[in-house]
Amino acid sequence: MARHLMTNERGKIALEHLRKIKPFIQASLSLTKKRCGNPRCRCVQEGPLHEVTLLTWKEQNRTHTLYVPMELRQEVERWVQEGKLLKRLVAEVSQAQREVLTSKKRNRKSKKV
Ligand SMILES: [Zn+2]
Repeated sequence: MARHLMTNERGKIALEHLRKIKPFIQASLSLTKKRCGNPRCRCVQEGPLHEVTLLTWKEQNRTHTLYVPMELRQEVERWVQEGKLLKRLVAEVSQAQREVLTSKKRNRKSKKV
């Protein structure tokens, strides 16, 4: 390690995972069914309807939606999973740093006694 990192074992492990993070997105995928709009398509009369994958996320309390092409569904699913992992890791490092602070405080107190 090039420089001293002020964290604990928990923080080190989470940081190690953070370094390996892959492309991510903080959003969720949902499946829905709809008519495609082509008046001659089978979906107008007897169905089945077309499966559509949507990506949704919130920005300033508004929900946004983006259409995901079928061939990218699995790829985008990986981004979403990675986004969840990132969120967990951010919480993990934050927790580790709080632990570092509270243990410092405890050490200082015990030294005074
Ligand atoms: Zn159709």
